Amino acid sequence: MRQPFGNLVRRCFCTSLKPYFNEIAPAKPSFFGDGWDNKGLFGIEELADASGFMEFSEGAKAKSYELLYEALSKNRTRKMVEIFDEMSNSLCKVADLAEFVRIGHPDPLFRKNATDASIKISREVEKLNVHRELYDCLKKVVDNGDVVPTTDVDKEVARLFLHDFEQSGVHLNDQDRDKVVQLNDFILHIGGYFVSRVSEPTLVPKEEVPKKYQDKFPVDGYNLSIRGLFTSSSDEDLREIAFKLFYKPDEHREKLLLQMLTARFALANLCGFPSFGERAIRGGIFESVAQVNSFLETLSDSLKPLAANDYNLMLSIKKKLDPSASEVKPWDPQYLIENFKYSRLSSALQETLSYFSLGVCMDGLNHIFKSLFNIHLEYCAPRAGELWHPDVIKLNVYDEHKQELGSIYCDFFERDGKPHQDCHFTIRGGCQLSDGNYQNPIVVLVLSLPKSNSFIPTLLSPHMVDNLFHEMGHAVHSILARTPFQHTTGTRCSTDLAEVPSILMEYFIQDPRVVSTFAKHYANDQPIPDNLLSTWIASKKFFNASETQLQLFYAALDQAYHGRDPLLGSNSTNAQAMKVCEKYYQFGYSPDIAWQLRFGHLVGYGAKYYSYLISRSVSRLIWTKYFSADPFSKEAGHIYQTRVLAHGGGKPAADIVEDILEHPVDPNYLSQSIIDDIVECNQRCKQFL
Ligand SMILES: [Zn+2]
Repeated sequence: MRQPFGNLVRRCFCTSLKPYFNEIAPAKPSFFGDGWDNKGLFGIEELADASGFMEFSEGAKAKSYELLYEALSKNRTRKMVEIFDEMSNSLCKVADLAEFVRIGHPDPLFRKNATDASIKISREVEKLNVHRELYDCLKKVVDNGDVVPTTDVDKEVARLFLHDFEQSGVHLNDQDRDKVVQLNDFILHIGGYFVSRVSEPTLVPKEEVPKKYQDKFPVDGYNLSIRGLFTSSSDEDLREIAFKLFYKPDEHREKLLLQMLTARFALANLCGFPSFGERAIRGGIFESVAQVNSFLETLSDSLKPLAANDYNLMLSIKKKLDPSASEVKPWDPQYLIENFKYSRLSSALQETLSYFSLGVCMDGLNHIFKSLFNIHLEYCAPRAGELWHPDVIKLNVYDEHKQELGSIYCDFFERDGKPHQDCHFTIRGGCQLSDGNYQNPIVVLVLSLPKSNSFIPTLLSPHMVDNLFHEMGHAVHSILARTPFQHTTGTRCSTDLAEVPSILMEYFIQDPRVVSTFAKHYANDQPIPDNLLSTWIASKKFFNASETQLQLFYAALDQAYHGRDPLLGSNSTNAQAMKVCEKYYQFGYSPDIAWQLRFGHLVGYGAKYYSYLISRSVSRLIWTKYFSADPFSKEAGHIYQTRVLAHGGGKPAADIVEDILEHPVDPNYLSQSIIDDIVECNQRCKQFL
C-alpha cells in the first residue's frame, strides 16, 4: 500500500521508519477492500463491513454466557481468575474496539454500528456486575483460596475483579443495590451531560459587551457568543472581557455539577465509604485520601515562592509592554508567555522545525526502544480492509529473536471530522490464552499532525514531539507488559501509575544526548546545531512553576469536591471553589469566575486528577536514578522493564513504585521531586531570560 520507494527500502532490509512517515501514499479508492479479499478491520473477518458488528458482538455475548456457566459450575477445574479474565476479554475485545471505532472511524455507518455494539456490550457488563451468584463464587475464592493452586498475581487480579464488582454494590442488600445501580446510571448520564457543556460558548446580551468589542464575538440570535479567551490579543481589556464572560457562573452547569457531586457522595456512603474520594483512591501509588492531600499541601507550600518568581517575571514582561501595569491578572499569563517566547525564541524555533520531521522522530523512538528494551518497531503492510483510513500506518513490534510482541496502528494525520485529541486506545489487551498461545496486544495512537506535501514532510513543533513521545510511552507500556491477564494489561493499572511510562518518555526528549541522535534536517541529514538544540529544549519549560500551580489548584479542587464535605454545608459549588482557590492559586478567588464549571475532568477523573502530578514526580525520580547518567543504558532499561512495565496493573502500584525507586513512597519525597524538576528547568531557561 506504500509508495514504490517504501517497497524498495523494505527489499533492502532497512529498518528505518523514516520513508513511511515522511511520505504519505495517495488515497486509494479501493483501499477499504470491498472485494473478495477483504480481511476486515484490524484483520477481524466479521468486520469486513459495518454490518459485521452485530455478529461480532453476538459472538462475544455467547462466549461470555458459556464462561459464566463455567464459573458457576460445581465441577469447575480452571482457576476462577482465568475464567473471569476470559469473560472480560471476550467482552472487552468488542467494547474497546467499538469505543475507538465510534470516535475514530471516518465512515458514519461504522461509527453507528460500533455505538450500537458498545451499548449492547455495556448492558451485558451491567448485568454481570450485579450477578450476585457470580460475585459470591469469586468472593469465596478471594477469601478462602481457589480449588486449584494460584500465584500472587492470580490473587491480586482476583481481588481487583472483586473490587470492581463491589463498585456496583453487588454485595449490598437488594434495596441498596438497586439504589447503587440507579445512582451509577444517573452519575454516568449527568456527568456526560456536564462534560458536553463545559466548553460550550457563553451567550450574553450584546449590551453586556462594550460597543467597541462587540464585533469581536460571533452573533447568536440577540446574543453574542463567547467561545474563547483571546489569549493572543495584545488588548488587555478584550482579554479581560472574554475571560470573565467565558468563566461566568452558569446556572445550568452549576445544577449539573451539583447533582453529580451530591449523587457521588450518596453513592460512596451507600457503599460504606465516608467520601467518594475514599471509594475512588484504592490501589493507587497513594492508598489514602490523607496521603494525597498531604502531597498536594506540601507541594503547594514549596511551590509558592517559585510561582511568585514566575509572577514577578511576568509582571516585568507586562511592564515592558505597558509601563503603567502594576499587576498580572488571571487573563494575562498565557498572553505574556506566548509574547515572551515569540520575541525571544520564535525565529530559532522556526529554524528547529526542519530537524524534527515525523520520520526522524520515529527513528529516534525506535533507537531508544532498541537500546533500552531490545525491541524494534517495523512497518507492516496492511491487509485489504484492515485500516480505517489510508493515512494510517501499521507497525509491528518485535523482540531480539524476531518474535512479534504486538501491533501499533499510527493514525497520526489530521483530517476532516477527526477528533483533535491525542490519545492511546487499547484495542485488544495482551493475555495468556487457554490454548497456550499469547494474545498479542493491539493499540491505536491518534495524533493530529499536519500532513506532508510533495516538498516537505510533516515537521513537528516541540509540543508535537512531546505528544508523540508521550503517546508512544503508553504504547510501549501496553506492548511490554506481557501480563497473564488482559484485565491488567499495560496501561490498565492505577491512574497515577498509568502516566509514568508516557511522562518518562518526555524526559528522554529533554536530554540533548538523546535528541541529537535523531534530530536531523529532512533535506540534507545535517544534525541540529547545538545552539538550536538548547533553545528547543528550554522552550518547553518556561514558567513551569505557575503552570504546575494551576494544575495543583485543579487537583485540590477535585479532591475537595469528592471529599467528606464537598459543598462545605452550602447548596452551591462556590464556597468550596473559593476556599481551594484562596489556598492554592496565586491569583486568588473572584466570585465572577467559576473555574469549576469549565472543569470537565471532574467527571472522568473523579478524585484522581492529582494522578498526573504523581506520575510526573515518579517519572522524574526514575529518570534521575536510572537514565540521567546514560539514557541508552540497556541495564537500566531492563530494570525499568522488569520492575515497572512488565507488571501492567497486576501488582499494587505502590509496590511497583517502591521497588523501582528503592525508597518508600511518601508525600514529601514525591512533592520534592516536582520542585527539583522545576528548579532544574528554570536553570536551563535562565540563559534566555
Ligand atoms: Zn497520557
